[in-house]
Amino acid sequence: MPSFKLRGVGPQIAKHLARLDIHSARDLLLHFPTRYQDRTQIQPIRKLVPDQEAVIEGVITAVSNPTHGRTKLLCELRDDTGKMTLRFFHLMSFQKNIFKPGMRLRCYQQVRLGPKGLEMTHPEIQVIYPDKPVVIEPHLTPVYPATEGLSQYMLRKLTTNALTWMQEAKALNEILPETMLATFNMPTIKAALAFVHRPPNTTSMDDLLAYKTPSQKRLAFEELLAHRISLLHGKKIFQSQQAIPLTGVARTCSLCLGSVAQQFLQQLPFKLTTAQQRVSDEIQQDLTRSYPMMRLVQGDVGSGKTVVAALAMLRAVEAGCQAALMAPTELLAEQHYRVFSRWFEPLGIKVAFLSGQTKAAARTATLEAIANGEAQIILGTHALFQENISCARLALVVVDEQHRFGVHQRALFREKGKTTGFYPHQLIMTATPIPRTLAMSFYADMDCSVIDELPPGRTPIVTSVLANSRRDEVIARIRDACKQGRQVYWVCPLIEESEVIPSQAAVTTYEELQKSLPELKIGLIHGRMKSSEKEAVMQAYQRGDIHLLVATTVIEVGVDVPNASLMVIENAERLGLAQLHQLRGRVGRGSVASHALLLYQAPLSPTAKERLSVMRDTTDGFRIAQRDLEIRGPGEVFGTRQTGELSFVAADLIRDSELLPRVQQAADEIMQHHVPLIEPLLARWLGKATEYGKI
Ligand code: ADP
Ligand code: MG
Repeated sequence: MPSFKLRGVGPQIAKHLARLDIHSARDLLLHFPTRYQDRTQIQPIRKLVPDQEAVIEGVITAVSNPTHGRTKLLCELRDDTGKMTLRFFHLMSFQKNIFKPGMRLRCYQQVRLGPKGLEMTHPEIQVIYPDKPVVIEPHLTPVYPATEGLSQYMLRKLTTNALTWMQEAKALNEILPETMLATFNMPTIKAALAFVHRPPNTTSMDDLLAYKTPSQKRLAFEELLAHRISLLHGKKIFQSQQAIPLTGVARTCSLCLGSVAQQFLQQLPFKLTTAQQRVSDEIQQDLTRSYPMMRLVQGDVGSGKTVVAALAMLRAVEAGCQAALMAPTELLAEQHYRVFSRWFEPLGIKVAFLSGQTKAAARTATLEAIANGEAQIILGTHALFQENISCARLALVVVDEQHRFGVHQRALFREKGKTTGFYPHQLIMTATPIPRTLAMSFYADMDCSVIDELPPGRTPIVTSVLANSRRDEVIARIRDACKQGRQVYWVCPLIEESEVIPSQAAVTTYEELQKSLPELKIGLIHGRMKSSEKEAVMQAYQRGDIHLLVATTVIEVGVDVPNASLMVIENAERLGLAQLHQLRGRVGRGSVASHALLLYQAPLSPTAKERLSVMRDTTDGFRIAQRDLEIRGPGEVFGTRQTGELSFVAADLIRDSELLPRVQQAADEIMQHHVPLIEPLLARWLGKATEYGKI
């Protein structure tokens, strides 16, 4: 049982509070209202309208106890302007004495239209005695996120006690330097907390709801500041760690590459784009340092991140070390294995592949080769690092399609990859373009590079949005594309939160399409197939032996078949924009014009309509991510719903984005001139989540 030293909190209440993750008076003060009620005015009954929340005051003129139905008690309440009904389904014993004709009550509740006119159900009630007039609330009334067993009344009582405690105790003291408060014209933390819990009745309700008051902004600012500092602080810590500097190779070409890397570039069927070259240069620079690289490479789908990763890995190999690349899915890991074997084996480089499906004997041999250093390049899924593999001399870890990984995972990979006292360099690649505000807030611990150019000769994908009822047209389009020697994807996304159903949907669609398109070779791939089966299907598709591939979203990331020029996505309205963009990026990789057909199930909500039209109107990943951010919030841009890392208590990245430049400035100032403030700031806002502190 947490020790909760606050007046009014016994063991039972402490238990309820714990469910809201409130374990102290401090936590209670950081539990912010979601909205406010205006109880500062008594409304005349005649002026009430249904759905309005209002305070009324009147005298009971009649009481009845209905004998049928759920209602236990009805009171008629009158003021000078009219009458209304109070309805109760249950009563507590002390209330029996209150509900008598002649009693004067002040009630607060939402007004509803009942069978006999306006009524309130279970209003909050204050009895007004003639000799003891009750003052009207001087503040707007906060409404808190609540939980069973903990009423708003109780939460208000507790926060009142906590506010008193705050003023008396040396708690929640000001952390920010006075000069900073003055520069940004901000109230003190205590003033801000007192305000958000009990705003004066003169405060504009609109400003409060839009979080525009200086106190709300002050709190958001401090939280964003703590978050940013925690990342910068983490960066500083890992820059003080040791990594193997990858130097000692001949610096003969513009890329400062060694001879193996040059050979590699010569054997490639294409030249690097300017963007690939620039990003590769940045990476090669980082790799020569004796502290770990921590670089995020953002590059839209198809921008050619793999070859950039390969060059970095070659650098490790040339320095006599190992490099590992991890992919989020087996499918993608296998594709990387095929590509890297083709690229590296002619150069005499040993590539090892570990997957969840590798059989015991082969696995032992592979692990052995990794441990004794024979394997120079190690490929596998992210699961690879979840287990105990030991590497002879691992110098670089590349994490592909990072967008589902947060600070904690980054720290985990770093720890796991640590061998012989050195931390590996880390290269993180994502095809989810990250809007600037998010990148600044979530990746402040990394250096970022952007591959902002697609390889030449790509024709932009043309996207159409169609109702599901136009399937016949879609089938005709598929027939056409295949006649021209092109290949087609048909994607059936997750329909329910279950693994079985999307596979089933894909199987059903597969069978239907076989009937409608008997002349085509149709393949099926979904998450429940064995890895070897998936691989066989993928290879057949890559060879062109399959014309139409029916798939679940397993093909979302990374899969590369340039001859595919048409993609059909069913139930597109259910997918996030970032995910649709990823999927769509599977086509448009060759030189022919490509099409994406987004099928939806009518009727579409206005938001869904807007989202699909964003997909139709642009193929620019950054713009899509920005719109996704505006429409659905940061959790969706990262392909995951609100996770601990993405949720703030006082701040909201979209709403408060205008604070970010100031946050950046303040973070730098604190890092440079006020180091002792870092710890209390992180403890206040990040609490347990200060992972970096532990490393
Ligand atoms: P992504 O950034 O989505 O991971 P890939 O690395 O899979 O993209 O590259 C997509 C395709 O583009 C691959 O077939 C790759 O061989 C090809 N490619 C990469 N760089 C270039 C380039 N500079 N010129 C032409 N094709 C390229
Ligand atoms: Mg890729």
